[in-house]
Amino acid sequence: MDGCPWHERRWVIIGDFNLKQRRINKSLVNRKAREYVEKNPRLKGIVGLYREVFSVQRKLSQRIPDRLPHIEGALVSARLQEEELLLRPEELELDLPLLVDMIREIGDALVRKSEREPEGLRAFLEEELTEELAREMAEGYLSGDEARFNALLEGKAVKPELVYLLLHLTLAPFYWKAAGSLARQADLDQVARGTCPVCGDLPVMGFLRAEDGLRVLECSRCGTRWGFPRIMCPFCMTTDQEKLHYIYLEEDPAHRAYLCDNCRKYIKITQSYSGKDEELLLPLEDLATARLDLAAEEKGYIRGCRTVFS
Ligand SMILES: [Zn+2]
Ligand SMILES: [Zn+2]
Repeated sequence: MDGCPWHERRWVIIGDFNLKQRRINKSLVNRKAREYVEKNPRLKGIVGLYREVFSVQRKLSQRIPDRLPHIEGALVSARLQEEELLLRPEELELDLPLLVDMIREIGDALVRKSEREPEGLRAFLEEELTEELAREMAEGYLSGDEARFNALLEGKAVKPELVYLLLHLTLAPFYWKAAGSLARQADLDQVARGTCPVCGDLPVMGFLRAEDGLRVLECSRCGTRWGFPRIMCPFCMTTDQEKLHYIYLEEDPAHRAYLCDNCRKYIKITQSYSGKDEELLLPLEDLATARLDLAAEEKGYIRGCRTVFS
């Protein structure tokens, strides 16, 4: 028995394709970064790091060649319906010399802008990184096999999790490029999935769309947004209302952490945003609401989303 086919069809196919994707560029990031730091000067360091990394990602992304989407039209809908990724890891086209340049430049940004210089990173970039190692790291990362990835870094002073983050930040522009055309062709208004329908990664956080309260999640890697049911946990998919509740900080009712007693994870959601949704920068929202993470963690819940820098 596979449940009610009508119900599934309604979820996946019918919709009016009106979910707007984010529109992000350097001047928007700079303007918003200034606003967040004005409101909370303690964010200066971490927001400065985000700004710098974004600026390098953006600059280098212009060197990624434009390619036709690898799937179109009916195939996009078919994959969505089958709950298959629109962009499989092997479909991501990487240009190896460009990848190495990007690892170096984004790595340099981490060295320059981190509050404490990450151990071993400078030596890794200057002495240990080769084209061959970059190719193997990208394959290890894309295979999702952590042990395989970590083995490549054995005996090096740099921490594998830092290099993993570096790869994540480096591959993001390749994902942005591929995800943009796919997200525009797909009906992502109602996708009851807690991982990105395009690339399969975890969300960074979510927001409620002003006009109708649709809960929208944003992928931490490719930036795709998708509509997700309001009363459902994105990590264990429970819809048991008894198990789902939320907290917020008294001084900031505009952000909530939705807690799940079934899997003990939580997700942060921006409840009300006065600007345009396309210009809401969830990575900055995430950095600006670190105290809400602490509050949820103090209650014994674990973050289910990725952070901007992990
Ligand atoms: Zn994604
Ligand atoms: Zn859950």
